[in-house]
Amino acid sequence: MAATDDAYAALPAHARETHLLASTSALLAWDQETGMPSGAGDVRSRQLALLARLAHERATDPRVGEWLAVCAADPRCAADPDREPNVRCLRRDFDRATKLPPSLVAELAELESRSQQEWAVARARSDFRRFLPWLERMVALQQQKADCLRAPGQSRWDALADLYEPGMNARDLAALFGPLQRALVALRERLAGGSSPSAGFAREPVPEANQEALARAVLAAMGFDFERGRVDRSAHPFCTNTGGDVRLTTRYRPDGALDALGSAMHEGGHGLYEQGLEPVHLGTPLGEPVSLGIHESQSRFWENHVGRSAAFWQWCWPLVERHVGAAWSGRRPDDVFRAVNRVQPSLIRVEADEATYDLHVMVRFALERQLLAGELGAANLPEAWNALYRDHLGVTVPDDRHGCLQDVHWAAGLFGYFPTYTLGNLYAAQFAAAADRALGGLPGLIARGQFAALREWLRRHVHRHGRRHEPADLCRLVTGAPLSSAPFLDHLDHKLRTVYAS
Ligand code: ZN
Repeated sequence: MAATDDAYAALPAHARETHLLASTSALLAWDQETGMPSGAGDVRSRQLALLARLAHERATDPRVGEWLAVCAADPRCAADPDREPNVRCLRRDFDRATKLPPSLVAELAELESRSQQEWAVARARSDFRRFLPWLERMVALQQQKADCLRAPGQSRWDALADLYEPGMNARDLAALFGPLQRALVALRERLAGGSSPSAGFAREPVPEANQEALARAVLAAMGFDFERGRVDRSAHPFCTNTGGDVRLTTRYRPDGALDALGSAMHEGGHGLYEQGLEPVHLGTPLGEPVSLGIHESQSRFWENHVGRSAAFWQWCWPLVERHVGAAWSGRRPDDVFRAVNRVQPSLIRVEADEATYDLHVMVRFALERQLLAGELGAANLPEAWNALYRDHLGVTVPDDRHGCLQDVHWAAGLFGYFPTYTLGNLYAAQFAAAADRALGGLPGLIARGQFAALREWLRRHVHRHGRRHEPADLCRLVTGAPLSSAPFLDHLDHKLRTVYAS
């Protein structure tokens, strides 16, 4: 075992140092989005590019392959409860990193940076033709990347999606998404006939400082640890782990008090997951989040299953009266509960309600598979996009800014990523149903503000495992069943019957 012990000691030590580089990048990127003066942009790009290159060199260091081979040859490693998952995940990371030629990695990094800038200009002008050559180049390079990564018989889309959600493939997803899509379209059509709850009062201006005080009070109640985390402002809300602490951002608009609180709770859910990873495993797979779908389940749990519940607004009402005050005067908790659950099919994914959000994701899931397979030319994207929006959401896309140019993902090289949003919604609903059974009813806990019970349940069942279990296995362990859309549809049906009843 001596050689194995040496190899096993070297592996996590190497991983921890690589993680220090990655978390340094995260800190610089956080600074870039929150406080960096614009004049520092050039040097910051070079700092980040250097750190990315050093991290890739470390990830592909041939010694890692040698250590992994020594560990794989020793059956005691496979029997050890901590070594097995660490070695399995490090093997996967090493194989992925070494399958990509450095020239392709560099070419993609440069294209991702430039094409995002071109996308931003094209979107502002609603000029798809301007972005088209960049998209064509990006699809071609993503096809190359997928061809390097994919196993025999595996599709390009599956090879890329596996980067974000290990074990996920298009066939299983289509089986899950097909019935879900039909159910959500039927729900949308059914609600379109009824009268919508009023939400206009929620657009009354609320001073940004008051919105921020409300968001911080709710994050503190959720148990976000401000000793190991910060909350700042940025143009687009995000959450990042800088190794020693977790940084959230939100944004405030005077007429967007509800949106600001929803996005603070969303990012707060991501933040609790990061803070719930075991510090002793920091920098190794056991101390890392397992997938984007599971990560998103944690944000959706707090945003939708807590923040959009009637019980939450009962608990939150003294805080609303204190921080929002006159802007919502004469309103009751039930009015806000109904307003945050209003269903309104729309053009823009990030503004979508809980019942139609996943239809936006399904449009992208269909189109990116066709783009990667070469069945859809990039030039025909707007037409295909608009047709699917008519079919899925019943809306007419007026221009490409409100259509296929709305998301940065494809410009940033993220193909196979979108479905993790819907997986997050499905996992969240299944976890919430399991927590409801285990804890004797979520509404009572939420109405009393007993969020610690919820947070500790998530920590024990989801957070602390890191990458120990594959996402599909984790779902079975936490809920006793494989992932299904039924808990999500039950949750929507139950809630919307209440919201649309009166
Ligand atoms: Zn999220």
